[in-house]
Amino acid sequence: MSRECRRCGECCRRGGPVLHSEDRGLFAAKVISITDVVRVRKDEPAFDPVRGRGVRAAAEMLKIGGRGRSWSCRLFSPDPPACTVHADRPLECRLLFCRVPGDLAAVAGRDLLALSAVPDLDSALLRLAGEFDRAFPFSAFNLLLEKAARDRRALAELSSMVNRELRFRMKTCAAHSLSPSLETAILGRPFFMSAAASGFEVQEREGELALRPPV
Ligand code: SF4
Repeated sequence: MSRECRRCGECCRRGGPVLHSEDRGLFAAKVISITDVVRVRKDEPAFDPVRGRGVRAAAEMLKIGGRGRSWSCRLFSPDPPACTVHADRPLECRLLFCRVPGDLAAVAGRDLLALSAVPDLDSALLRLAGEFDRAFPFSAFNLLLEKAARDRRALAELSSMVNRELRFRMKTCAAHSLSPSLETAILGRPFFMSAAASGFEVQEREGELALRPPV
């Protein structure tokens, strides 16, 4: 079987790659920028493409984000289908051959690039990420999420945490003039999105988010 990538874009449409230490030079070479990535925080519920199921992230990861609201890698150009950084694409994209996923499995979760290792990142942004992680760890969110489906008190606590996180995030973005792309690169995705991905209904009522458990 030929291992030549047909560059059909099927993998790219399923989502961008997680970055590894080997990809660090792509920032310095300006192939990718910090606003291209989404920070997946430790313990954040995430999809593991190698195991084909949801997991809790064992460590912080930087992943190339989606295009608009789609999963498609934002470095993928759909028409004609092409990777806009093909010659310099990240490690996982060079290893991934869709019909032989084993090569990717060998590096998945290993030697991951952390936010602190991104070259020339403003130290104030890095401090902000650390403060945010300490104030709103995914471990605490996950504990409440597990109970909230059957416990009204846990549901109320979860709703309160989701709203506090959102207010903190909005205040921080305003104070540091973070664009939406820089927000997800530094702070990651908001809690309410993880709650929605876990089946909770999220509604806005009078400026507050209200959560309802999965039915
Ligand atoms: S970086 Fe390029 S090859 Fe990798 S998923 Fe994105 S578009 Fe596809």
